[in-house]
Amino acid sequence: MLPSFFDSVLQLIVRTSTDLPPDVRAAMKHSLVSEPEGTRGSQALTIIAQNIDLAADAEGAICQDTGMPTFEVHAPVGANQIWMRQQIREAVKEATARGKLRPNSVDSITGKNSGDNLGPGTPIIHFDQWERDDIEIKLILKGGGCENTNAQYALPLELPHLGRADRSLDGVKKCILHAVWNAQGKGCSPGAVGVCVGGDRTSGYTHAKEQLFRTLDDVNPDPRLAELEASIMSTVNNLDIGPMGFGGKVTLIGCKVAALNRLPASFFVSIAYDCWAFRRLGVVLDASTGTIKQWLYRDPSHPIIPMLDQAGFTRTGKEVALNAPLTERDVRALKVGDVVMISGRMFTGRDAVHSHLMKNAPPVDLDGSVLYHCGPVVMKEGQGWRVTAAGPTTSIREEPYQGEIIKRYGVRAVIGKGGMGAKTLAALKEHGAVYLNAIGGAAQFYARAIERVDGVSLLEFGTPEAMWHLTVRDFPAIVTMDAHGNSLHKDVEQESGAHLEAIGV
Ligand code: SF4
Repeated sequence: MLPSFFDSVLQLIVRTSTDLPPDVRAAMKHSLVSEPEGTRGSQALTIIAQNIDLAADAEGAICQDTGMPTFEVHAPVGANQIWMRQQIREAVKEATARGKLRPNSVDSITGKNSGDNLGPGTPIIHFDQWERDDIEIKLILKGGGCENTNAQYALPLELPHLGRADRSLDGVKKCILHAVWNAQGKGCSPGAVGVCVGGDRTSGYTHAKEQLFRTLDDVNPDPRLAELEASIMSTVNNLDIGPMGFGGKVTLIGCKVAALNRLPASFFVSIAYDCWAFRRLGVVLDASTGTIKQWLYRDPSHPIIPMLDQAGFTRTGKEVALNAPLTERDVRALKVGDVVMISGRMFTGRDAVHSHLMKNAPPVDLDGSVLYHCGPVVMKEGQGWRVTAAGPTTSIREEPYQGEIIKRYGVRAVIGKGGMGAKTLAALKEHGAVYLNAIGGAAQFYARAIERVDGVSLLEFGTPEAMWHLTVRDFPAIVTMDAHGNSLHKDVEQESGAHLEAIGV
């Protein structure tokens, strides 16, 4: 068959996971200079920029959530698609074994992680034939946090803050603005949206995701849609949602809209939200050997330039040092906006752990603990383990459980991203705990704050869902919900909602 095909696909996966494409880098660099220095948004973007550089230098996963691998393949007439599919699956398996992809394929009935990213429906591989002689493969890795902020609207409908959205381009604009507002920081803003107007529910979502393969700086060939894209970009960054939903000037780095024909009775607007860790690349392969002839999205005349010329977290001197385990007094002294540097013991716990703790005693003593919403990439090394990527996951999924877990087990700090809701806020106040926002996607940056892995519990839930016992040093995070009833997330949501109303589409 094609002797280099497997290696070429493996290279594509590794590079997509570890090295952001130039157009996304350029947009993030522009974001960095747009947020005034010293603001929370600027601090978040500085960590993100360092993370982008670290990932490329060390060939580590940019974000620990390497998402749902989605391949778009164009092959010449007569090419063996069955063999290519098998090779792509093998390459995904190998990239997972090398720690470039996190095991992300979970049996929806049993909850068991396949461990190799293979399973029914994963990875996603779409084939199309074309008249050309070569093979083109594009790959996007879109994580769960931003996938959960996707939205689909059936027009006409009433939208909060925006009123009636009719079956018109103004109605479409309202849907896009609403989706971005609703995402707040949960999808790791600044993000980018792919949008499909029309189609049916299935084709609409697929086509919306396909728009994310367009470069951020291209111009829509349809002048009506080009105008809509420009209008969204000039409006949305005035909502003051900002990086990570901390408030600020940069909320979106791209908006790409396409249209499909629809049934007379249906008018769907489908929105695929991607985070700043916008990982997509492509290759063109020689159809007789499978060797890479060309990288897509990479212009060789524009070499990758570093995002930053400095290393480490830029301290202002106002950071609060916390040593875990924490006391009630430690956390009651904190207020929204404080930057903390945590050292000591930390436990990871996300969906499966939270569900488990509602019915079972914890496997470790959680009194005074710091609980990190994180599904890391962890590699076995001899008898021990090494964390290679460890950013926060979206916390709101744990909202049904978090307050009870704080109350029952004495957790003093929860770290995650995107914020939590009213139940958790009340529990923080009543029991003396805080919510700390780490910077979503900064997996390499945070992996370097982990000194060692001391152990693991509940490994039967799979690597991302297990409870990892970590020792960290100077792990930075921002207090966004304190023990006095204050929530930055609630404030930003309300203020950006007021901005949305003022826009008057
Ligand atoms: S950057 Fe955030 S939304 Fe994107 S994959 Fe990582 S954790 Fe998920």
